[in-house]
Amino acid sequence: MKLANRILKKYFGYDKFRPLQSEVIQSILDGDDALVIMPTGGGKSLCFQIPALMMEGVAIVVSPLIALMKDQVEGLQANGVNAAFLNSSQTANVQNEIIEDIHKGKIKLLYVSPEKLVSEEFYYLLLQLKVNLFAIDEAHCISVWGHDFRPEYSKMAYLKKQFPLVPIVALTATADSLTQKDIVKQLGLDEPKLFLSSFDRPNLSLNVAPGKDKFKSILGFIRQRPHQSGIIYCLSRKSCEGLSEKLSKAGVNASYYHAGLSPEERAKRQDAFINDEIPIICATIAFGMGIDKSNVRWVIHYNLPRNIESYYQEIGRAGRDGLKADTLLFYSFADVIVHRKFIEKSALKDVSNAKLERIQQFCDAQICRRKILLSYFGEHLEEDCGNCDVCKNPPKQFDGTLIAQKALSAVVRLKEHESVGTVIDVLRGSSRQEIISKGYNKVKTYGAGKDISHQDWQQYMLQLLNLGYISVGYDEGNALKLAEQSREVLFSGRKVNLVHLASMNSKVLKTPDKAKPSKQIYREDLFEALRKLRLRISRTSRIAPYLVFSDATLHEMAEEKPTSEFEMKMISGVGERKYQLYGEFFINEILGFEQSKNQEAKKSSQSFYETYEFYKQGYSVDEIAKIRNINPVTIYSHLASLYEKGADIDILSFLHVNELESIQNAVSESGSLNTKDLYVYMNEELPYYKIRLATSYLKVATELK
Ligand code: ADP
Ligand code: ZN
Repeated sequence: MKLANRILKKYFGYDKFRPLQSEVIQSILDGDDALVIMPTGGGKSLCFQIPALMMEGVAIVVSPLIALMKDQVEGLQANGVNAAFLNSSQTANVQNEIIEDIHKGKIKLLYVSPEKLVSEEFYYLLLQLKVNLFAIDEAHCISVWGHDFRPEYSKMAYLKKQFPLVPIVALTATADSLTQKDIVKQLGLDEPKLFLSSFDRPNLSLNVAPGKDKFKSILGFIRQRPHQSGIIYCLSRKSCEGLSEKLSKAGVNASYYHAGLSPEERAKRQDAFINDEIPIICATIAFGMGIDKSNVRWVIHYNLPRNIESYYQEIGRAGRDGLKADTLLFYSFADVIVHRKFIEKSALKDVSNAKLERIQQFCDAQICRRKILLSYFGEHLEEDCGNCDVCKNPPKQFDGTLIAQKALSAVVRLKEHESVGTVIDVLRGSSRQEIISKGYNKVKTYGAGKDISHQDWQQYMLQLLNLGYISVGYDEGNALKLAEQSREVLFSGRKVNLVHLASMNSKVLKTPDKAKPSKQIYREDLFEALRKLRLRISRTSRIAPYLVFSDATLHEMAEEKPTSEFEMKMISGVGERKYQLYGEFFINEILGFEQSKNQEAKKSSQSFYETYEFYKQGYSVDEIAKIRNINPVTIYSHLASLYEKGADIDILSFLHVNELESIQNAVSESGSLNTKDLYVYMNEELPYYKIRLATSYLKVATELK
């Protein structure tokens, strides 16, 4: 496998294989058929691309999505791999040229659509070629059990019959065993090896928040993540448009996407998203299928997904580069009702309802969410993940018996005839026309739950639903019903524990602004500069930014600051071709960045030096400020910094003994030497500059100890 490793570095710039990649490659080289099941972003493509480069002849890759095909081929070309695609989007002329290149042995990987593959003309072409492997991507499309069955896929059984000696590798991210068996059967695979990798995506943070104040939460979430690209999935076209408009009004660069747009418009928006021109897109689940963009940094579900499979597939579009990415799901009662309505009309009612219940349980979880997800896919996670909201911020329960009693009793008094909205209106004593005309203002529980907001009631009702105290008559206008055990709550003192809504607010929404160490700021600024360079290159060379270099590669550059060819090629993701094309641009950017930072540092040290000169000549701080036309606070901060660097400054002359003492106390109580923290800690009792001076004094004093 030495050769495989060399090819990995040379073409893709990576240093080591991900789990299972080298095993799959070896199996293909041995001539065996294989079924590869890996989550999105697991690195399926390399499993067939590397053997294709190692063997004589051409590899045929079947891919159902034309847009994806183009992206993958462009990605390969950018790495210096001879790849091409054939599909109906090309003119006959273009297709003929490609076929000529194949005959000349110029093409190592040929991507084709399933339609093309099963066409007669293509069969004759195949007969004339030396095909070294067939790779069937998105192989679940072959099975009616998979979620996007494609009829053309079912004709592909002819491959094994006509080319029994050519290994076939089928790849998919769909795990369930029914689909797996079907793939093997439909393709007629010959004792295929099964490669099943873990479905865990530890870099994705999992967060669920109650579905209230959604817009405000989303805005805060986005503002904490400047320049990041993300997807917001909505259930309806209308909410995609509405949300996108509200975001735009708030100054966020966002757009929307759904099946109601013309195909051209959809393609345009998808491209703009891939090219980082529109970083944020509000979309229905129609969006994302044909997208390989590796630097999607977050995914938000504005509404509850219909089942765990869809949810996992959708959040899987974030963080394909392996870097940290955040996901957030808003959970609300109204969405459950909407899904139920859909399901009522569908053919697979029981299965769909059961699946909906599983995702509700996931949302309601009191234990590590990743454990629940993975167990759904048949995997067992030993330890809590530490990267979900439950792990980071365990939900707090309280005795909610009284709340439950009020709710249940309202349901009874309304004769189990009314839906959740009306029940809450009655609890809150609403004077809505319908409530009055039905005489509900006269029932005993009318107004009994005034103290709880409508939105909070929705959340408590949802908890009661999931705890099995109420059920919904989906075929009776969604009327709320009592369950057997609810009577015990009402009449025999059965206790009900509910989760504090405040404790459910996910931590991702509020990461405190900590002062960042200067090294980190430097790194982030350099990353920003490199990102901008990447964008410029992407525009001029007309390939997607993430195909120039991934976010992971840029982060490593910002960290390592490579300035020579050797150093640059050590960075993961910088292969030979990419180095030739872009290496120098990035080296120059890094050099330029360092130079300008040095100049900045020089300038500021010059300014310090001037202050120091005046100080030594005996000028007071106010005088220096006046002469230099700078705020006195800045002069104090110059003096404090100079003192820390060892300059001869009588820093105690600016501080009264009592002041120093109280600052010292605050330091030992709060454990912080950060000026801003102390300023707040001491309730702004002392001026900021005094604290700044005192912390310098204390820092030097502790260092001397
Ligand atoms: P999948 O098809 O399974 O969703 P991809 O093949 O698109 O995943 O790979 C996802 C990302 O991971 C791509 O950006 C790819 O370049 C990167 N990648 C794949 N294998 C490796 C590896 N061995 N080292 C580093 N990055 C890798
Ligand atoms: Zn967890």
